[in-house]
Amino acid sequence: MNIPDLNTKKWTQESQPAKLEEILGDGSVKCHLSPRNCVIKEGQVGFCKVRGNRNGRLVTLNYGKGVHNTQETIETEAVFHFSPGEKILSLGNIGCMLNCGYCHNWKTSQAKYVTDKDVYYYTPEQVVDSALRHGIKILSWTYNDPVVWHEFILDTAKLAKEAGLINLYKSAFFITEEAIDELLPVIDIFSISLKSSSPEYYRKVTTGWIEPVLEGIKKVYNAGKHVEISTLMVTDISDDEDSARTISKWVLDELDPSVPLHFVRFHPDYKMSNNVRTPINRLHKAKSIAQELGLRHVYLGNINDDEATNSYCYQCSSLLVTRYGLNAESIGLDKTGRCLKCGCYNNFIILEKNYSKNSINLQHLNTSSLEKKKFNWHGDIVSIHAQVTNTLDTPNTIFFRRRMRDDAHGEWECISLLAKESYRFIIAKSKPQEIGPEFLLSQGISSNLHEVFDRAHFPTEAIEDIGISMDDTTPKIGYKGKQNMYTQLIKMVNKDEN
Ligand code: SF4
Repeated sequence: MNIPDLNTKKWTQESQPAKLEEILGDGSVKCHLSPRNCVIKEGQVGFCKVRGNRNGRLVTLNYGKGVHNTQETIETEAVFHFSPGEKILSLGNIGCMLNCGYCHNWKTSQAKYVTDKDVYYYTPEQVVDSALRHGIKILSWTYNDPVVWHEFILDTAKLAKEAGLINLYKSAFFITEEAIDELLPVIDIFSISLKSSSPEYYRKVTTGWIEPVLEGIKKVYNAGKHVEISTLMVTDISDDEDSARTISKWVLDELDPSVPLHFVRFHPDYKMSNNVRTPINRLHKAKSIAQELGLRHVYLGNINDDEATNSYCYQCSSLLVTRYGLNAESIGLDKTGRCLKCGCYNNFIILEKNYSKNSINLQHLNTSSLEKKKFNWHGDIVSIHAQVTNTLDTPNTIFFRRRMRDDAHGEWECISLLAKESYRFIIAKSKPQEIGPEFLLSQGISSNLHEVFDRAHFPTEAIEDIGISMDDTTPKIGYKGKQNMYTQLIKMVNKDEN
């Protein structure tokens, strides 16, 4: 995308006609996008605050408006069985049909906290063009939640498919069947966050309800889409053995044993900042329960250096894919996704790789005039978003590499930018001895680094503005409201047990 026209627009000003509208006789409209089915009066907005009633018609307020598009890897989206290590272009918008107490994207998912400086404006053509130019084959609709970006996704995903791209939908999937019917022709991969198996948990923690989520998962699975399920294990609330057992049984009974299931580590955030990270032993216990019940591909998420993120053949136990954080390397799969050793199919889809890392030898380049920038991994901060902007009227290039202990380093890689182009990409720690990335920036490039807490987190504040986080377990920009949700939920859990 081009450099945004910063702060000159108010994101709520413009609207577009919305789909899934029912006009009611009294001037109000009903929205059929999420199961809330909000009835909205003239001039008002629905629960998500990004769909409203203007002149008696349902409109969307966030068409083409989102956070900065970001190059990541497919592992960021809890998708482990679709072309491991593949680059994706992550696209997030603003607003949400839920309000989960632990949301790590609350600054963009809850429309009342969105500031105009964080909103970027895109057309479907710009999104597709950016992916193609940077050698990316998958668009990922993600972050806050794609459900409330319905019209923009349908338009862009259709264009992307025509250009040979693949669409991934990462969602809590609180969505109506009518809306799913519109997504099925254009979405290829569904990564669904099944928050819990408990109806009470859904009501209290997410403000939604579980039934449409379960029905939606079955619908996309039965439509033959690639589906992966992930569950956030919230410390002392939903990281118990019973929760792991019920979710695993549901996947087994309603889907099949080859559907990948991810148990994801929680970090304190939003209305649950007064909790602690999920103890890793509880995640491992959940994984063993799921495997004992018969699930073939069970993973742990938000854990960097742990073999519970690797893929093994369920038949001969050969190592198929190694993972470290958000990096993956396929070492035991053939081109059709079968185990190289025994030929067993492990529910992998592999895209043909026609791109390679843009490695470059800088020996012949005079680097003394380039600005150098370094970042050190610390605590749980093992990935960052780098946002770079070419302010020149001519193309430009940025260079980066990984620094290791003992003055060793990886190869220089580069990203080419068009005149006035703004680009954002993730770098995630890839091995234990890696200490952090290093950048070389030509004249005319401005840059900002953003600390990422766990996967699918979109940080809005740059370390150049707020500094480096001193607390490694929760983002520096914290929610200033009440922190009582964890305390209330603990009472609920204890009451159930008594
Ligand atoms: S998408 Fe928004 S307006 Fe529509 S029903 Fe859901 S919360 Fe209400």
